[in-house]
Amino acid sequence: MHLSQRITNITGGGSDGWDLFNRARAMIAQGVKVTELTIGEHDIPTHPSILNAMHDAALGGHTGYAAVPGTTALRETVAARLQEQTGVATTAANVMITPGGQSALFASHMAVCDDGDVALYIDPYYATYPGTIRGVGAVPRAVAAHADNAFQPRAEDVEAAAVGAASLLINSPNNPTGVVYGEDTLTRIADVCRRHDMWLISDEVYDTQIWEGRHLSPRALPGMAERTLVVGSMSKSFAMTGSRCGWIAGPEAAIDHLITLATHTTYGVPGYIQDASVFALTQGDGLEQEVAAPFRRRRVIAQDILARQNTVGLIPSQGAMYLMLDIRATGMTGEGFADALLDAHHIAVMPGESFGAAAAGHVRVAMTIEDRAFARALATLCEFAESRACDAG
Ligand code: PMP
Repeated sequence: MHLSQRITNITGGGSDGWDLFNRARAMIAQGVKVTELTIGEHDIPTHPSILNAMHDAALGGHTGYAAVPGTTALRETVAARLQEQTGVATTAANVMITPGGQSALFASHMAVCDDGDVALYIDPYYATYPGTIRGVGAVPRAVAAHADNAFQPRAEDVEAAAVGAASLLINSPNNPTGVVYGEDTLTRIADVCRRHDMWLISDEVYDTQIWEGRHLSPRALPGMAERTLVVGSMSKSFAMTGSRCGWIAGPEAAIDHLITLATHTTYGVPGYIQDASVFALTQGDGLEQEVAAPFRRRRVIAQDILARQNTVGLIPSQGAMYLMLDIRATGMTGEGFADALLDAHHIAVMPGESFGAAAAGHVRVAMTIEDRAFARALATLCEFAESRACDAG
């Protein structure tokens, strides 16, 4: 039977970027012990206090259909948090709760792109981005951010791609690079969006994982609140990846239509998950800090190990749970390196190429295993790179 091009073309006919990850998982299924530094999954479970709140809400009867836009309590809580962070007046009417950030990314593009519209995104990118854009019937167009500019996008490159584009998707703190966009980068990008009348979709799911500097939401920049959709999530901030709870914040008119979309797609998010999210978001920043702390620590561990050698370059990062390593001195591609490291040492890292052409010759390391094992794996990775660099040289 015929299947729609919309669904069969989501990966664009090529790889979806998960080959290395799938190979590592297949090895694990066969009993091989693999050190996985691949996906953005915490090595701690959701905090018991959040699970208790979930349990209490479920036992209290919040198990039926929840309000499709999200509960008033959660929408208000998210709105107050965003208003406090950005200074932009935000009410429940500006917020819709979604089953995670991923569905918020899909719904946001659905809201601003018509069939065949060009949607811009920055390369390197979170692996799902182009497929999400294709999934709504739009045409993804990458704007490269270069390693020699510390993976900060240049406004002139966005400008050159902007003609005829409906939207631009950015992500800071960034997956896969760990880069946090500076005020200058964001101000110049916002300027391009205004001049080309583009929507800005700002994926801020790592906003609580900042190691240096501060997170700036572009929705707070002049004239941007009316053209920005912010994507947020409980996943990374509260180690709640499996709970599937996120949000979109934006202009009320856009949110109204997004609610109609939700009525016809997800029909909302479980009420007990939303109640637990309200609990988590109203405990001060203690829980968030606790979730972020291991990554903060491991980034320093990695910096120390990488400072002792010259083969593997560490892209300076300011946030998120990942590190981007430049392995070009080995003469290998990111894919070749990741494959060979998996075979030789059973260490799985993601090839840069999985995140776009701009990340070629790099690998992404997720800082998601216990400190000592993390240090050992990184030291082995460096030794492996050194031996390959000697072979190459
Ligand atoms: N955006 C980025 C940049 C991500 O890395 C992820 C998850 N890895 C998501 C969105 C989606 O996260 P979730 O659906 O769990 O909120």
